[in-house]
Amino acid sequence: MTYSTIDIFKLLPKTNCKECRTQTCFAFAALIFKGEREISECPYVDKEVTDLFKGTPKRTDSIESDREKFMESLKQRITHTDLESRAIPTGGIYAKNRLTIKIMGKDFSVDATGKLFSDIHVNPWIAVPFLTYVLETKGQAPTGTWVPLRELEGGKDWYRLFGQTCEKPLKQLADNYPALFEDMISLFNGKPVENHYQSDISLVLHPLPRLPMLICYWKPEEELSSELNLFFDRNAEENLNIERIYTLATGLITMFKKIALKHGIATSCPAG
Ligand code: SF4
Repeated sequence: MTYSTIDIFKLLPKTNCKECRTQTCFAFAALIFKGEREISECPYVDKEVTDLFKGTPKRTDSIESDREKFMESLKQRITHTDLESRAIPTGGIYAKNRLTIKIMGKDFSVDATGKLFSDIHVNPWIAVPFLTYVLETKGQAPTGTWVPLRELEGGKDWYRLFGQTCEKPLKQLADNYPALFEDMISLFNGKPVENHYQSDISLVLHPLPRLPMLICYWKPEEELSSELNLFFDRNAEENLNIERIYTLATGLITMFKKIALKHGIATSCPAG
C-alpha cells in the first residue's frame, strides 16, 4: 500500500516534540513520504504501525506529482457531476456552462471538464479545497456559532499542526505588517465584526461561501505578547472535510505571506 503524507501524518502522535529532529510531525511525515526518513525514527509510534511500513518501496515521485494526481482525480469526478445542480448547495452561480463560486470575494469557476478559471492565480492549495467543496458540500447554512478548530469533530487530530502552520505565522504577519487586516478588507472582502472574545480586531473572511472564518487578533500590550486565533462555524465540516479546511487555511496564509513579501515585509516563515 502507498501512503500519502496525510495518511502518514494521521499515524503520528502529532505532538511536535521534535525528538525525530524535525520541527513538526507533519514535516516528518513529508520526509517519510519522500523516502528520506523511516517512520521507526519516531520513538512514539507503535510497533504495529512501523510493521505496516516494512518493505514499503521508496517513492520516486514528488509531493507535487502526488498533488497533481489528486487534482486530476477530483477533475475526473467533476466530469461526472451535474454542475448546475451544485449551484444551490455551494452558494454559487451556474451560467455559460460554468459553476462560479466566490472565494474571498474573487470569482473561481469550473467547467464540466474540470478546467478552472479565475482572475487570480489558481494556487493548488486553494484549487483542491475548491473542487472538493463543489463535489461534497452539503450546503448547510452557517449556524453563527464560532468554535476553534479543536472543537470540530475531526479537529482534534489537527489543531496542534493548525496552530503551528496557520495561527502562529498569521500572528507573526499581523505583528510585522499592520496593514494586513486592511488588505483583508480591501482585497479579500473581509468584514469587520463586533469584537469577539475581547479581541482588538475581529474580522470574518469567506474562503468559501458556506465556510466563513473568524480571525481574532489581540495587540501586544505591556508585558503581554500579541495573540491570534482562528475560529470556524460549528457546522464547518458539513461543508468541507477537515483535511481540506486545513489545506485551505494553509493556502490562505501562504497567500497573505506573499502579499506581505511584496510590500517588503520580512516574514519569519517561508512563503510556501
Ligand atoms: S514525529 Fe514523533 S518524534 Fe517527530 S515530532 Fe512527531 S511525535 Fe515527535
